[in-house]
Amino acid sequence: MSYRREEVDLGMPSPGVRQSLVFHRYGDPGARPKAYIQASIHADEIPAMMAAHHLLQLLHAADSRGSIRGEIVLVPYANPIGLGQWIDDRSLGRHELRGGLNFNRSWPDLEEVAADRLDGSLTDDEEANVSCIRKTLLTLLDERQNRHLLDRKRHALLRESLTADYVLDVHCDDEALLHLYTLPQHWEEIGDLAAELGAHVVLLDEGGSIQAFDEVNSRPWLVLQRRFPKRPIPLACVSATVELRGRADVSDALGRQDAIAIHRYLTRRRLIADALPDVPALTCGPTEIEACEVPRAPAAGILAYKVRLGSEVEAGEVIAELVDPYATPGAARLPIRASAAGKIFTRRSDKYVLAHHPVAKIAGKTALAGGRAYSGED
Ligand SMILES: [Zn+2]
Repeated sequence: MSYRREEVDLGMPSPGVRQSLVFHRYGDPGARPKAYIQASIHADEIPAMMAAHHLLQLLHAADSRGSIRGEIVLVPYANPIGLGQWIDDRSLGRHELRGGLNFNRSWPDLEEVAADRLDGSLTDDEEANVSCIRKTLLTLLDERQNRHLLDRKRHALLRESLTADYVLDVHCDDEALLHLYTLPQHWEEIGDLAAELGAHVVLLDEGGSIQAFDEVNSRPWLVLQRRFPKRPIPLACVSATVELRGRADVSDALGRQDAIAIHRYLTRRRLIADALPDVPALTCGPTEIEACEVPRAPAAGILAYKVRLGSEVEAGEVIAELVDPYATPGAARLPIRASAAGKIFTRRSDKYVLAHHPVAKIAGKTALAGGRAYSGED
């Protein structure tokens, strides 16, 4: 058995309260390839933790067979801060209550500073460049001041993921079909994972604006490639955000199914030395993020949906009506329409909305007129 369980102390943010992260480690430290998988950075997205729980059983079994190759690190809960945030008997794990920051935005952005630091250090040796870039990213990360608990937590997670070849950040949406986000350049590497998971939508986004966890791991390689076009630099970190359906979709059956899918992906990437699973048939094609529409509520009210998850809608089709509880009998409801054709892949579970709240996400086929409807806060 190569298994090691490491508990990382994040310190004591207030007297009498101590927080920690757990890293489940398989394989020899430093072995390649390396996979890093974390669950529930948005702490109220429980399907991810259920999948991690089942993946842990599968990895333990593989380890006891002596089948682990490379190195696998599984973080079963990535957000102890969020897991402790309850108000009015509801778990609130999306934003840090202390300062309001979304737990999956504004991760340390090392790409430009890494490019400046690496100027003059890269050579014609690709392998040496990969090693030099990883070392530089870690140095830059370590140079940052970690003043608060959240900074220390982010540092501990990134320190592990920045040296990985594969990074999976596992989440869920509100009410949703299974979907993923990745860089356009990684579609080839993520397509089979999406197929294993039975994804309905894969959104391709070059990122760079919100600094989500998957982006800050994969984008530095893209930025460095562009900054130093004469040097051999691979996209050495393939990362994706995996949205395991909706908040309420938590069961042993789904958790095990998702864990098996990830286990098969790791096997195909030669991190687990079992018989190679057949390459699954794609369950969807890619969708450019610019073709993803997020219709919004025009006012406060109650949503009466006219479509289901998975519905294919036409341009102009009413996806929901907004009921005004203040209105007199017979008053017209406000229709909320899709502006372009596409597939409904998320809805709100809470049907009471305020103005501008997102009502759904629709995967269209072409970039939307007027630009990107999808903002980083959705
Ligand atoms: Zn999330």
